[in-house]
Amino acid sequence: SAKEEGDGCHRFYEPKLATAMTEKMRLENGLYNALQTNQFSLHYQPKMNATTGQLCGIEALIRWLHPELGLVPPDKFIPLAEQAGFILEIDKWVFREACRQNKAWQDAGLQPICVSVNISGRHFFQGNLIEMIASALEDTGLPPEYVSIEITEGVFMRDMEQVIETILYLRKLGIQISMDDFGTGYSTLNQLQRLPISDVKLDRSFIQGITTDEKKSSIVRAIIELVHSMNMRVVAEGVETDDESRFCKELKCDELQGYLFSRPLPAHQFEELLAVSTAAITTNGSTG
Ligand code: C2E
Ligand code: MG
Ligand code: MG
Ligand code: MG
Repeated sequence: SAKEEGDGCHRFYEPKLATAMTEKMRLENGLYNALQTNQFSLHYQPKMNATTGQLCGIEALIRWLHPELGLVPPDKFIPLAEQAGFILEIDKWVFREACRQNKAWQDAGLQPICVSVNISGRHFFQGNLIEMIASALEDTGLPPEYVSIEITEGVFMRDMEQVIETILYLRKLGIQISMDDFGTGYSTLNQLQRLPISDVKLDRSFIQGITTDEKKSSIVRAIIELVHSMNMRVVAEGVETDDESRFCKELKCDELQGYLFSRPLPAHQFEELLAVSTAAITTNGSTG
């Protein structure tokens, strides 16, 4: 066919460009039926309480198993979905699925935990975030205190007043709000006290090398003190080594997350971990 000939031509003259174009186009085209054909799934990464070492929450992270390209990482398709405006549909699916799964674990008698969902900043300016969240909670029956959303600093740059208003409304609903990748975007340090958020997730770039880089560790120490002074919690992201973990604890981080504790796991694998954690709590006689 003409299409095949065209492809062949490009491949012959500009192999690299043609491959890149084809992959981007295949991803873009593929996004639209990925939802209907169940190509998305969620993996769950634990967050640990820094003091007790117990599992205290999870983050839902989307995975796309493309029929021809295999596993496509979110950094590759989330930006495409944002450009295409399709991110609203994806985030909606992720939020619902995370709520549904978490409710199912609770109904099965497992330790109740809070699940965090990453929400694109677009959701604050297009679509109806509040409606999306309220209807998912109602349909799945998950109590609002068991879900939180993660947003990045950039969200506040566009229209701070509108974003604050939306967040205040969500917090009234009982939802927690985390600021993700803190320190990587536009710095909201000077505005932090105005933002009605529950916790700040220190980006992995701050944790990497923290044990040897004195400048970095003093910056992190100052940030943590500041965040605590505003009655918000601090979560360290991307903790990979025992040294990093020990250091984060010394600096009084509240929660730790990273490969040291667990990689993001498919639901059935995380469920095993949750069962172990539930059993440990029960045998310790803790009331929760
Ligand atoms: P994020 O929300 O900051 O998530 C943390 C990323 O770091 C995840 O990558 C996670 O697998 C990875 N990570 C966790 N611990 C470690 C560690 O110890 N070392 C290293 N090197 N990496 C670690 P992932 O799953 O590839 O997600 C990348 C980004 O894609 C996320 O960053 C988030 O911004 C976005 N994303 C993922 N799922 C969703 C989603 O459902 N909706 C939206 N809108 N964005 C999502
Ligand atoms: Mg996140
Ligand atoms: Mg992050
Ligand atoms: Mg990130």
